[in-house]
Amino acid sequence: MNIPQDKTGEGGVIITKLDDLLNWARLTSLFPMGFGLACCAIEMMGAYASGYDLDRFGIIPRASPRQSDVMIVAGTVTFKMADRVRRLYEQMPEPRYVISMGSCSNCGGPYWEHGYHVVKGVDRIIPVDVYVPGCPPRPEALIGGFLRLQEIIRQETIREPRAVQQIMAKRMRNDELTMNNEEAEKANGAVKTNSAESGMSHDPSKPDDQQNLDA
Ligand code: SF4
Repeated sequence: MNIPQDKTGEGGVIITKLDDLLNWARLTSLFPMGFGLACCAIEMMGAYASGYDLDRFGIIPRASPRQSDVMIVAGTVTFKMADRVRRLYEQMPEPRYVISMGSCSNCGGPYWEHGYHVVKGVDRIIPVDVYVPGCPPRPEALIGGFLRLQEIIRQETIREPRAVQQIMAKRMRNDELTMNNEEAEKANGAVKTNSAESGMSHDPSKPDDQQNLDA
């Protein structure tokens, strides 16, 4: 089974860790959701086709998010589509993974500056595990992304499931944001008090050297 640290005994008995067994099963049977958003999806389809043949890695697209464990975000994520992408991700069972394929999905790509309708990175709406760069990335790059994802899955353990880790990380980020906001509010309150005591006020529409000139 090519599982590290396994031991084979007589009679075809294999002794290994449960983590290794589950990870091996997961990483050799990844089922991506069959959907694409823009031109990058053509390269993704090329990767599924006979020339590159993702099936040989056990990667077989499924037609329903309920049966998928990988989402390949291949193409431009518009704000109109973002809700749907998020909903499809939430319909996937745990453990689930996301591959962001192409510059548009990674960071907005050619729409970064003037694309008012494009989400500047799909990681703003769903967590991303692997980023595949390029515009568009070739099928080999997508295969490289899958190999990277397999390495990530190989390190997982059921004692600390990813879903729990992600929830804890999100909670810590929210706590940090709340603390930062509270500190900022306290600092603002102190500035206002000092201004009121000194009779000075700060007008944000004026540059610093023009403040309180009328007073
Ligand atoms: S990254 Fe390039 S090829 Fe991919 S969807 Fe965007 S514009 Fe198209």
